[in-house]
Amino acid sequence: MAIHVGRWDCTTCGYKGVRGPETECLNCGADRPKNVKFYMAAEEDIVQDPTVLRRARGGADWRCSFCSQNNPNAVKICKDCGNTKSDSDKQLAVKTYNTAAVPRTGDGTRDLPQNTEETPPPSSKKGCFIALGVMAVIVSVLLLFSLNSAIEVRVEGFEWKQSIQVEEKRNVQEEDWSIPSGGTIVTSFQAIHHYNQVLDHYETRTRTEQRSVGSEEYVCGKKDLGNGYFEDQYCTRTLYEDYQVEYEEPIYRQEPVYQKKYRYTVDRWFAINPIVTQDKNHSPQWGNTVNIRTNPSLREAGRKGIYTVLVKEEEIHAHEIPLSWWQKLKVGDKIKAKQGRISGHYRGLYPEEEQ
Ligand SMILES: [Zn+2]
Ligand SMILES: [Zn+2]
Repeated sequence: MAIHVGRWDCTTCGYKGVRGPETECLNCGADRPKNVKFYMAAEEDIVQDPTVLRRARGGADWRCSFCSQNNPNAVKICKDCGNTKSDSDKQLAVKTYNTAAVPRTGDGTRDLPQNTEETPPPSSKKGCFIALGVMAVIVSVLLLFSLNSAIEVRVEGFEWKQSIQVEEKRNVQEEDWSIPSGGTIVTSFQAIHHYNQVLDHYETRTRTEQRSVGSEEYVCGKKDLGNGYFEDQYCTRTLYEDYQVEYEEPIYRQEPVYQKKYRYTVDRWFAINPIVTQDKNHSPQWGNTVNIRTNPSLREAGRKGIYTVLVKEEEIHAHEIPLSWWQKLKVGDKIKAKQGRISGHYRGLYPEEEQ
């Protein structure tokens, strides 16, 4: 349990590194500061003299309640004012540190509560209100710009485009584990359906493990003895060594499982070019489907139409609208459209139910 000589800094003259047990500054003669902070500056400064060791182990120094002078524990009368040591005289604090926390400089003072209360920057609350205000303004402007006025536009003309989807039947060849209905077998054969994992053999391998081989003591901290000395603190840790362990590792192989697979022909429908008709008038026509109706390898697969009305505001705008509404409209009709209340931009038609 080695004992080291600590250091302290004089706050009166600024002298650094007064030897721990000194109760007065060697430079200016001032007493140790009220909250003296002992620190470890010289690890190798170890006490060996038996008299000094007794002083170091003799307990914390005491602070005279009359004159504040620090006196060694064994001294019963204050060397400064002659006051007799009493139970009410405070002893300097004894404190244990782990190695990383051992003080290494005299910066700051010990046993003073850390001033952790940080006053928040005064602008933070104000900043919050400003941000809210800016957001409110942005939202209001966006709302204003989204407001529409209704205007009337004139129907100028119509366009339409209609398509009939067509599919063609083709006889194709496929492979699968079964033949679908309508399929005609061409051939069958054995094919790999999936793999099974099968244990093949074991292999002897080694891995590294650890075992305990005893324990050791090590210096894990220092105790500030409250009198300028520091004492090593010991902890115990387990020692380990690596060793090799043999084990059997199972080795697997992938074994294919065969099943009967079929190659067959079957009729499938494929989408081909649709029959498209379009014009710029108000009488849509579907294309000719004679071919589809007379050719058994063709079939219809749905119809769709796109119906556009052209309206004039300052310029011509084209709008796709539902067929039922499109059919009701005539050239010269007035219908309602949206215009930005602030921007004045044209924004399209109101739907039929809002006309
Ligand atoms: Zn000094
Ligand atoms: Zn005194």
